[in-house]
Amino acid sequence: TPRLFSGMQPSADSLHFGNWAGALLQWKDMQDTHDATYCVVDLHAITVPQDPKALTHQTRRTAAQYIAAGIDPEKSTLFVQSHVPAHTQLAWVLNTITAFGEAGRMTQFKDKSQKEGTDHASVGLFTYPILQAADILLYDADVVPVGEDQRQHIELTRDLAGRFNQRFGDTLVQPEAKILKETAKIYDLQHPGSKMSKSGESPQGIVWLLDDEKTLTKKIKSAVTDSEPEVRFDPEAKPGVSNLLTMFSITSGMTIAQAEAHFAGSGYGDLKTQVAEAVVAAFAPIKARTEELLSDPAELDRLLALGASRANEVATATLQRVYDAVGFLAPT
Ligand code: ATP
Ligand code: MG
Repeated sequence: TPRLFSGMQPSADSLHFGNWAGALLQWKDMQDTHDATYCVVDLHAITVPQDPKALTHQTRRTAAQYIAAGIDPEKSTLFVQSHVPAHTQLAWVLNTITAFGEAGRMTQFKDKSQKEGTDHASVGLFTYPILQAADILLYDADVVPVGEDQRQHIELTRDLAGRFNQRFGDTLVQPEAKILKETAKIYDLQHPGSKMSKSGESPQGIVWLLDDEKTLTKKIKSAVTDSEPEVRFDPEAKPGVSNLLTMFSITSGMTIAQAEAHFAGSGYGDLKTQVAEAVVAAFAPIKARTEELLSDPAELDRLLALGASRANEVATATLQRVYDAVGFLAPT
């Protein structure tokens, strides 16, 4: 069976529509056909400031949302990144084979460091993609299901694995990104030119998985559209409406073309009402299940410990291969 690895940052209390559509939906399906490893990447989350108490909560909440959305911790390996030391250990080795200019071309760093400026952004934010490469390579992943925003990082991961193998002999597996075209990028409702992001600053533009029905409905009804009356999928000319159509297509199971036909002759008010209903229907059971799981943190921690011990076994073996290949003297 092919192996897969993917993860999300515990950088907020809730995941959002983009995380669910771009990643979680695929994760759920792929655990039946793959040897799947799903990680809550807390080491990544601290590349921008996090409140320590909040981070602890957010980590449990993220894991709970994975399970509530359909990840089965028996079938898949589900764990917290900082519980497996090999991630930072392999990242160090990969740091030494990454060119400074190569790391400097990563657009996520450019986007995320815009606010404070590159002089003040952390070096951790700069080397983020190298740690991500370590995450993936430790599990010999063949495939990495992610959203479009991660394409460049997976490409870097492939390059690093290839380079390592060339220099030190065949050691690491080169993974491929699996990006679903339709759901690859969900946009902020208020700023349909920007990606919906956990760490975004758009309280009304982010559709949280754990929002209540009233909040979800209000946000979707206030989504930015355009002044033309027609419901039509055209991401260039009509980014807001196209984003709503994408959300409708995912939650209703219709294709984009079917959704367009469904809304032919309808106005934006009707479109928004139906998107809101479809999103509420999709999210309500996930929210309820998440709350149930969070009411028993000891059980959640037990599941995460089980996952960490499985992950550790695989990760330690890969790291040992890497250490041997590099020529580190084995401790006796
Ligand atoms: P942050 O703002 O803290 O980076 P994020 O919302 O970008 O948070 P991540 O934890 O970085 O979320 O990414 C988790 C997964 O969700 C990745 O696979 C990523 O590609 C996917 N993803 C994130 N945002 C979107 C989006 N707007 N549309 C589709 N997929 C997304
Ligand atoms: Mg992100």
